[in-house]
Amino acid sequence: MPLDESQIVRFSRQILLRAVGGRGQEALVSARVRVTGAGEAIATACAYSAAGGSSVEALAPVRGFPIAPHRPLSGEMGAIPDARFQSPDVPLPDTAQLDETVVVIADGGLVAAPAQSCTSCVLKNVSALRSPPARDDGAATSQSSGLPPPVDLIGALAALAHQRIVLGLERELRRIEVAADGSLQSLPALRCEAHR
Ligand SMILES: [Zn+2]
Repeated sequence: MPLDESQIVRFSRQILLRAVGGRGQEALVSARVRVTGAGEAIATACAYSAAGGSSVEALAPVRGFPIAPHRPLSGEMGAIPDARFQSPDVPLPDTAQLDETVVVIADGGLVAAPAQSCTSCVLKNVSALRSPPARDDGAATSQSSGLPPPVDLIGALAALAHQRIVLGLERELRRIEVAADGSLQSLPALRCEAHR
């Protein structure tokens, strides 16, 4: 669906990006993010997705998020993936493959899984998020070292991960973890038994 004049003005800086362009912005505007779970990082991911032009639909309470009014979908670009942003506590569907993009957000990082990803592979990466690498002295958390907890960064990266999938820049399952020093690492996805 072509962008109207107000959308062209609103998203002009994104449209100028080579990786986005007019078609990419149309795709972002047609994409929808459904939210299950709660948490600061999920709220941030919703805010960035909405700012990028995508519709955000909360299926569960998202605390602290100024949700823009949900815009009706155009229905014109059926190939554009929807996404579900969720916390690790929300179970994945019990199917062999995801039927939509899923971005799982946790304190320890995020997993971005395009539609058609193997659910077992995704679960393996989500489990890895729950058990971050052990710290040497047990006390060097990002908080005690004076760095702010990177929840906003995780949320922003989650929105970016979804946008990259919508724009066709990313087609692989990806896991991004918070390292012991508070930095973020993009790690090769773990694979289930069937996909080793
Ligand atoms: Zn697999």
